Amino acid sequence: MTKYIFVTGGVLSSLGKGISAASIGNLMEARGLKVTFQKLDPYVNVDPGTMSPYQHGEVYVTRDGAETDLDLGHYERYTSVRLGKNANYTTGRIYHNVITKERRGDYLGGTVQVIPHVTDEIKAAIHAGARGPDGEGADVVIVEVGGTVGDIESLPFLEAIRQFPFEVGRENVAYVHVTLVPLVKAAGEIKTKPTQHSVNKLREIGVQPDVLLCRAEAPLTDSVKAKIALFCNLEPQAVISARDVANIYEVPLWLHEEGLDDFLVRRLGLTAPAPDMSRWKAVVDAIDHPKDQVTIALVGKYIELKEAYKSLCESLVHGGIPSRTRVNLQWVDAEELSAASGDGLNGVHGILVPGGFGERGIEGKIQAIRFAREHRIPFLGICLGMQCAVIETARDLAGLPKAHSAEFEAGTPDPVIALLPGQAELDQKGATMRLGAYPCRLLPGSLAEKTYGTSEVSERHRHRYEVNNAYRERLEKAGLVISGTSPDGSLVEIVERPEHPWFLAVQFHPEFQSAPLAPHPVFAGFVEAALAHMRGNP
Ligand code: GLN
Repeated sequence: MTKYIFVTGGVLSSLGKGISAASIGNLMEARGLKVTFQKLDPYVNVDPGTMSPYQHGEVYVTRDGAETDLDLGHYERYTSVRLGKNANYTTGRIYHNVITKERRGDYLGGTVQVIPHVTDEIKAAIHAGARGPDGEGADVVIVEVGGTVGDIESLPFLEAIRQFPFEVGRENVAYVHVTLVPLVKAAGEIKTKPTQHSVNKLREIGVQPDVLLCRAEAPLTDSVKAKIALFCNLEPQAVISARDVANIYEVPLWLHEEGLDDFLVRRLGLTAPAPDMSRWKAVVDAIDHPKDQVTIALVGKYIELKEAYKSLCESLVHGGIPSRTRVNLQWVDAEELSAASGDGLNGVHGILVPGGFGERGIEGKIQAIRFAREHRIPFLGICLGMQCAVIETARDLAGLPKAHSAEFEAGTPDPVIALLPGQAELDQKGATMRLGAYPCRLLPGSLAEKTYGTSEVSERHRHRYEVNNAYRERLEKAGLVISGTSPDGSLVEIVERPEHPWFLAVQFHPEFQSAPLAPHPVFAGFVEAALAHMRGNP
C-alpha cells in the first residue's frame, strides 16, 4: 500500500519546507524505500515558466521538459528520484483542467464548484504524481503544499489533502507541519504561541498534524517540546526540533537524530530497516571540512536574488566535493561590468556566465568572457553564457564586429545566435522553448569528452535560440571547437577553446543534474581547473 506524507507550512514562508520534504525523502530512501515527490503550488500561473526569477526564484526543468518550482530541484538533489510533469501542479493548472473539462461538456448539467470539482481534480493530480514519471509508483509519496496555512489561495489544496485519507485510508497518510518557534530576544525566551495558532488554523480546516517540524535557532528543550505537544494534541516524540544549520545537507542527519524517520515509519506502519547514512555523512563532511578554497565570479543579472541561481550554486558546492574544495562565489553584476572589463574579476580563479533571458547585462557578460579568454582564467558558460561566448568569438576573432543574438538585436547583420527555421512563427511564450533532456554527442579527444569520461550524454535544456549553423565554419576558423552536438549534428550543444587551459560552454543546464552524491562532471572539472589556476599550474 502506498503511503502519503503531506508537508504543510505555518507561521511564515521561507521556513525550508522544500528542504524538509526533500530530507524526509532522503531518510526514507536511506531506509530502502522507493520514494517520489510532488509539489502543489497555490499561484494561478499554469506553471512558473513565465515567471521572473525575481518573483519566484529559479525555474527548475525536469527530464521530460516541465518547467517547475525550484523545490523539485531539492527533491532530486537529496534523493535518486527523477521527477516529471506530474510532480508539480499549480492552482492555474488545476483550474485549466477543470475549465477544459467544463467546456468539453464533462460536467454537463452540473454546477462546477471548488468542492467537489476542484478538490477532485487536486486529488486526481496527487494520484497522478504518486504514479511517478515512469508509472512505477512508490512506497512513499511526499506531497508538499506551497504557501502558508491561513492563506486564501492554498485552501482548496488543504481541503483536498483533508479529504485524501478517505480515499486511501487514514493509516496510510501522515501530515507533517513545518512551523516556527521564534526566540524573542527582549524576553530571552522562545515562544510557542505562533506554532499553536498555526496548528489551530490547520485543525479548523480538519487537518490534525501528526508531526511538527519546529524551526528554531537552537534545539528545543524537552519541556518546550512537551508544551507544544500538549497544546497541539500530539505525542512529545512527534515534536521535532529543526534547528538552523550552516550546511543544508546536514538537515537529514539532524532530523534522523531527532527520530523523525523512526516516528514516520511507525506512524505509517512501514517495515524498513534503520537508514544507512554513511555516504551522506561523508558528503557533509567533505563540504564542512574542505582542504582548499577557490573564488569563482558569477557574472549574472539576477544577482540580488540568489534563489534565481539555486541549482547552479548547489552544483558548485557539489563540484567541490571530490577535491574537497570550498567554492566562494563572487557575485558580479553584468551591468556594472559593461564599462571597464576586469572590475570584480581580478584575482578570481574561475568565471561563470550562467543562463538568462533579456538584453540587460549582455555586453558585460561578453566582456567577462573576453577577460577569461585573454587572461586564461577557467571559464564555464551555461546556455545564455554559451551564446555570449559564441558572440565573443564572432566579434573579436572571426571579424564579425556586429555579431549578435537575434534575441537582442532583431536586425543584426550577423545573427550568430538565432531561432531555428520554423520557430519564428510561435506567438505564445509559455512552454514554447526547447525544454527537457536531449542527447548530446561529444567530440573524441575534446575537453568535453575528457570531462564527462564518455562519448554521449543527456542534458536538460530551456532556451529558444540556437547557434546559427550558417556561421559554424567561420567560428571554427576563429578557433572555436564545436565539441558537442545533437546526434544528427544539426544543433550545437558544446563549444570550447583548445588553446585555453579550461574554456567550456554548454547550451544546456548541467546544474539540473548535479547532486551531492553525484557531483556533475562539468562542475567538478570546472572547480578542479579553478584549483589548478589558483596553484599557478594551468
Ligand atoms: N535567452 C536564451 C534563449 O532563449 C538563453 C536561455 C537560457 O539561458 N536559459 O535561447
